[in-house]
Amino acid sequence: MEVFMTEAGILYERLTGFILSLKLWDLLDILVIAYLIYRLLLLVRKTNSSRLLKGVLFVMVALWLSSDRLRALNFLLGRIVEWGVVALLILFQPEIRRVLEQMGSSKVPFLDMFKKPPVDRQIIERAISETVSACGDMSKSRTGALIVFERHNQTEEILRSGTKLDAEVSSELLKNIFFVKAPMHDGALIIREGRVLGAGCMLPLSRNVNLSRDLGMRHRAGIGMSENSDAVVVLVSEETGSISVAVGGMLKRHLMTETLEQLLRNELLPKQEEDGDREKKRRGKKDAKPGRKKDGEGKDE
Ligand code: ATP
Ligand code: MG
Repeated sequence: MEVFMTEAGILYERLTGFILSLKLWDLLDILVIAYLIYRLLLLVRKTNSSRLLKGVLFVMVALWLSSDRLRALNFLLGRIVEWGVVALLILFQPEIRRVLEQMGSSKVPFLDMFKKPPVDRQIIERAISETVSACGDMSKSRTGALIVFERHNQTEEILRSGTKLDAEVSSELLKNIFFVKAPMHDGALIIREGRVLGAGCMLPLSRNVNLSRDLGMRHRAGIGMSENSDAVVVLVSEETGSISVAVGGMLKRHLMTETLEQLLRNELLPKQEEDGDREKKRRGKKDAKPGRKKDGEGKDE
């Protein structure tokens, strides 16, 4: 018991000594490593690769245990780890790329100086209303459509898989592209900063195994795109005419055109101004009709 107490005392002394010797840079070091581990765990959870992580941990533990005596096994595991790192980089190339892109697109005040000025609000508003009008018509005529509104994450690779365009967004153009006999109707249309940049593009399919079974490839591609980037994806079903929107891996289904428009405005128009406008409208209404409640959103179909 006494021995245990003295050992515990030594451990306590060492621990307090260690904590007291920590400098600001050490704390920063620990915080950065903790953040990186957190991001890695998030990545593992998001990509359903926990089994892979377990396998990697198993190899690492085996490598550590075999380091003293089992030399041949240790040598073999050492080579596996060396090549394994390369294999992991190749396997997770899209995910690593996405994380780096997200880091690059996060707000850094100093770097914001080099950013392009924001696109004219009216151009985005026009693109939204033309898209909503086209989706309403395509929903009635049961024309399948898949429209990607790019935000911060660039879609260069996806654009390369289709036909490059550079045109103003108009309801007629969208309907023309998705017309079932048109050569570019298959695949997705990409809109960046209020302009159509490409059509017939291949999107990544969702890896979510829990999606409803009645969702086919178009919807899985739309959800996949929203999982892999911050894009807003609008879908019109060829089978049912139903309009959906995918954002951040979530699919909002059976939308009315009014709800679609409100949703796109919320997601795509600059936040502050939109809030400011709403506040002005709210105040205006209040002044005109005191005591009247604020209008609700359009109900889903
Ligand atoms: P719908 O309700 O319109 O039938 P769905 O979700 O049931 O849609 P499918 O019937 O499988 O989907 O739709 C097939 C169409 O989806 C293809 O013709 C093609 O245009 C589009 N599509 C399928 N996979 C992709 C992809 N990876 N990227 C872009 N578009 C795709
Ligand atoms: Mg289908």
